[in-house]
Amino acid sequence: MKSEIKFPKAYGAYAKNNEIVLSSSSGGVFTLVVEWFIEKYNNNFMVAGAVWDDDFKGVHHILTSDLNEINKMKISKYVQSKKMDVFKEIEVALKKGKYVLFSGCPCEVAGLKLYLGVEYSGLYTIDFICKGSLTPLAMEQYIESIEVKKKSKVTAVNMRYKWPKLDTWIPQFIRIDFANGDKIIKEFYNTEIGHAFRIMQRPSCYKCRFTCGKKISDFTVGDFHGVSKKMLFYNKLGTSALFVNDIKGQEIFDGISSMLEYGEADIDYIYNNNKGFKDTQREVFTNILANQGLDFAIKECLSKKEKLKCMLPTKIARIIYSIKRRKLK
Ligand SMILES: Cc1cc2nc3c(=O)[nH]c(=O)nc-3n(C[C@H](O)[C@H](O)[C@H](O)COP(=O)(O)OP(=O)(O)OC[C@H]3O[C@@H](n4cnc5c(N)ncnc54)[C@H](O)[C@@H]3O)c2cc1C
Repeated sequence: MKSEIKFPKAYGAYAKNNEIVLSSSSGGVFTLVVEWFIEKYNNNFMVAGAVWDDDFKGVHHILTSDLNEINKMKISKYVQSKKMDVFKEIEVALKKGKYVLFSGCPCEVAGLKLYLGVEYSGLYTIDFICKGSLTPLAMEQYIESIEVKKKSKVTAVNMRYKWPKLDTWIPQFIRIDFANGDKIIKEFYNTEIGHAFRIMQRPSCYKCRFTCGKKISDFTVGDFHGVSKKMLFYNKLGTSALFVNDIKGQEIFDGISSMLEYGEADIDYIYNNNKGFKDTQREVFTNILANQGLDFAIKECLSKKEKLKCMLPTKIARIIYSIKRRKLK
């Protein structure tokens, strides 16, 4: 008798190729899934995921088979993505017999499935462990404010920058590049946008039906925050948590497992080390942001210490961080 596989199955994992780990948010699992998908459905695939708007003030979803565009989907952008016409485009592609890989928040996967109304064998879905996303208004104001301060346009944003000199993925760093060659590299949660993300998730995110319980996507990725050096799948540059949620998820996992260092993990352990934010300041922060702007909201809601850390120039912040790390070693 055939034994039934029980889903979800949980793993800790990272890509064997360290270049992929370095250029991803955690362990680079998303990139491996995309590479597997492209190879498997060569000439007949499309990938949907989130990319920055040209001005970096927002994020939107695209559906494409262009490898350069797919590459832009990498790295978490902690801002709610505009879905534009992407659900409709996916439906058209599926009806034409294309194989589509959709990646997004759990609620976005649920939205897509509701929109489609029927199961398509050609559709594969990936979501992530999700604390929620930030309102685009805060990102818009942040970009405008730093462009004024630096007197230059933003040319790139990476909210999960792995600073090679620091050799670690936690704490999380943000890197912003400007047209005049200037850059900001700071601990994400010591910046105005990091604080806004912490304080101000979408109201619906605090009571999200899709993050816990029965999984809606085929495959889930996330940060393995509880990973310790004793674990087989520890990587100082990032470890992903991954959940195989159904048969298609199993197909994905079997397709990428030879490119992963991985080991089984406990779902409760992963979630217990991945707690959401509390919304104690949200209302006040949101009102000030809407009426007087992000800089004012930061001024009113943050402690003196938090404000000081936001104001530290990159160079000084880096020196302080390097000293802190040396002490920890
Ligand atoms: C808004 C948001 C909240 C998150 N919250 C958590 C959390 O609480 N705990 C946790 O463990 N992990 C969270 N993650 C996931 C985590 O940041 C990593 O994406 C995950 O560990 C996978 O990393 P990776 O190295 O495999 O791939 P990466 O290369 O980082 O994967 C990027 C993937 O994320 C998608 N994506 C990026 N930005 C967005 C966006 N704004 N909206 C929709 N899709 C997007 C891209 O389409 C792509 O598929 C969150 C991600 C986002 C975008």
